Amino acid sequence: MKLRCLVLLSFFISASLFSNINMAQQPDIVQEHWYHSYATLTIDVNSWADDYPEIVNLLVIGQTELGRNLWMLQISDWSVETKPDGTQKEIVYIDGGHHGNEHLGTELAFLTAEYYIEEWAAGTKEVIDVLATTELHILIMLNADGNDQDTRWNINQVDLNRNYDHYWNTCPTTQPGSSAFSESETLANSIYMNTVVPDADLYVTMHTGVWIMLYPWGKWPEQPSDWELFHHIRDDVHANISDIPIQNANQGLYPNCGTSRDYGYGVMGFPTFTFETDDEQFVPGSFESLEERLNEEMDVMRHLIDNVWYWRARLNITSMEINEGVEINLNVKNLGYATTSNATIQYLDDSGAVLWSSNNFSVNATNSSNVILDASNLTLIEDGYFELYYQKRVIDSSKWVNENISNDLIIIFSEEENSFLGGSLIFDPTAIILVFLLAASWNKRRY
Ligand SMILES: [Zn+2]
Repeated sequence: MKLRCLVLLSFFISASLFSNINMAQQPDIVQEHWYHSYATLTIDVNSWADDYPEIVNLLVIGQTELGRNLWMLQISDWSVETKPDGTQKEIVYIDGGHHGNEHLGTELAFLTAEYYIEEWAAGTKEVIDVLATTELHILIMLNADGNDQDTRWNINQVDLNRNYDHYWNTCPTTQPGSSAFSESETLANSIYMNTVVPDADLYVTMHTGVWIMLYPWGKWPEQPSDWELFHHIRDDVHANISDIPIQNANQGLYPNCGTSRDYGYGVMGFPTFTFETDDEQFVPGSFESLEERLNEEMDVMRHLIDNVWYWRARLNITSMEINEGVEINLNVKNLGYATTSNATIQYLDDSGAVLWSSNNFSVNATNSSNVILDASNLTLIEDGYFELYYQKRVIDSSKWVNENISNDLIIIFSEEENSFLGGSLIFDPTAIILVFLLAASWNKRRY
């Protein structure tokens, strides 16, 4: 980590020399070099909650080891409980300030909250639309004790970003604590992830060090199971938003274990990124200022948040033909950017009991599949219905979802006469023959 006084110096020099470049959008950080302390953060988050009760819930989700509050902002349009189509809102989880001396990472979390609150108040359509369909959960400063002392560690000299229960203390590492979640800060963060936001489809944890975005794993050099999703986001960001390097953490930075990023992906199943901001005012050989780079990271954040709907598998059935007692012919599209490999069709009765499950099938990210499923032991009943059951992503820990299959999409071919068919269309060979015979006799009568 850089010495803070050096950073201060470089800021003051650049602020005076390059003030024409530093057009102020965040003058409080870059030009006045004003970072949040725990006290100023406490004032700001409480002001937001007072001024914007329509969109800001402020919670205390625990305390630091020294008893400072862990402030959680829940930002969404709270006048609506669900999305307009009645489904659950998308959930984004963001934290900052694991390391008390990484002030810009903490500020980036602050700037993200500030952007969505202030732009909502200003009537910006992008933000109004996002907050109508999405919940942002933002914990800006996890290590308030370390922040006040300008140190990486918490008060017990533990590196909080090595203290999570994912391959804890299995890398050459320093100061991971006496056990996983030995510290009140990481324990509170993990409880919140598990109890309030387990369905999140994006987790971003914000740090300072180098100009890079890191995805899992820190533990292993191999690409994560959901590499297609991470590579898609990388390529999309590079093509349209920013040249910021985006890499697997182990290769992009160094091997690390027990991080919140690996925990967020490996245990919670979230698509997870570590945002790092370097604290040099100018990258050597570049004229891009820190402020421009922060704005660039905000653009990436907005892209990740505004498109959170896509960061999972989204199966969409276009047709489903049932040859009763034989097979199901399924056409399914994956509208999301993650692959799913354990999908099944389930048949349930009106009490919700599963009567039948198909064999597993996969649908790759952004692909369509035609799937033939064995249905020799499927028996249709009155009031039965079908659901898709699948994992949002490939990683074992990712959440399972149940999604109803509309009867309008189902065509049932039955070989039995007079059988009850739950679907909307009925093809019965006997009935068709009868129709032909009737038509023939009608023709005879007419002529
Ligand atoms: Zn850090």
